[in-house]
Amino acid sequence: MPQFGLGVWKMSNDDEVTTAVKAALDAGYTAIDTAAIYKNEEGAGQAIKDSGVRREDIFLTSKVWNDDQGYESTLKAYEASLERLGVNYLDLYLIHWPGVNKYKDTWRALEKLYNDGRVRAIGVSNFHIHHLEELKKDATIKPMVNQVEFHPLLVQEDLRAYCRKQDIQMEAWSPLAQGQLLDNPTLKEIGDKYGKSPAQVIIRWDLQHGVVTIPKSSTPKRIAQNKDVFDFELTEEEIKAIDSLNKNERMGSDPDDFKF
Ligand code: NDP
Repeated sequence: MPQFGLGVWKMSNDDEVTTAVKAALDAGYTAIDTAAIYKNEEGAGQAIKDSGVRREDIFLTSKVWNDDQGYESTLKAYEASLERLGVNYLDLYLIHWPGVNKYKDTWRALEKLYNDGRVRAIGVSNFHIHHLEELKKDATIKPMVNQVEFHPLLVQEDLRAYCRKQDIQMEAWSPLAQGQLLDNPTLKEIGDKYGKSPAQVIIRWDLQHGVVTIPKSSTPKRIAQNKDVFDFELTEEEIKAIDSLNKNERMGSDPDDFKF
């Protein structure tokens, strides 16, 4: 899967998402991350269609929302996402949040979609190690991806090591800590050395950690800037300095304690 893409959470299902997806594809992005609950799959799909980029050159991810968990309901939710996106397959379909009761049934539905050749890859999101261990007991296919909150304030060392060992690709959501870190002096200082912004430094840090990253921006200039991270390399010391910003601080909910 591409190491880098555009996240479209909170973009409205109109010009906002179509402009952003179009700007991303124009800038050479090859991956788009949406979800049923973002309620912008139609707009994202329209932008893909209008871009003229071939479907097979785009890595498209969506996610099954909590209310649709369960075997039959997930199969239906998948078809509904395809319909809204105007495509006939997804590259990656994820269980959005674990919840307690149904994620094993939901996973069986994802396995069926995968075995039937309807989706190119399947995975989970917001799974702690214990969720992954529990899922493993009954799964016939291991999740290929775990998309979790990951940024310099939440470096997820244990989960990262576990995923690496299990050959599960970790993917960062809210990689820019939703904009909270963009004035951070450490990131600014490192960025100044390379002529890069704090956002670009964080994105580079994700890539060098082997974590797939999907920063969100609705601003075409920033969308282009965020992709301009393949012409410099952080030193080991700089990576450690960024790692040490960790505070185990979440912008979103803890997957063991969420109420939606
Ligand atoms: P990010 O951490 O990507 O931060 C987005 C914010 O940073 C926006 O306010 C954006 O502003 C700003 N920004 C982006 N680039 C720059 C830049 N170069 N300079 C300055 N500011 C910048 O937030 P998200 O929470 O959206 O996370 C990214 C994606 O992860 C989501 O869009 C979604 O796809 C996914 N996600 C998945 C979740 C899950 O449960 N699986 C949960 C949360 C997110 P502006 O738009 O105005 O440019």
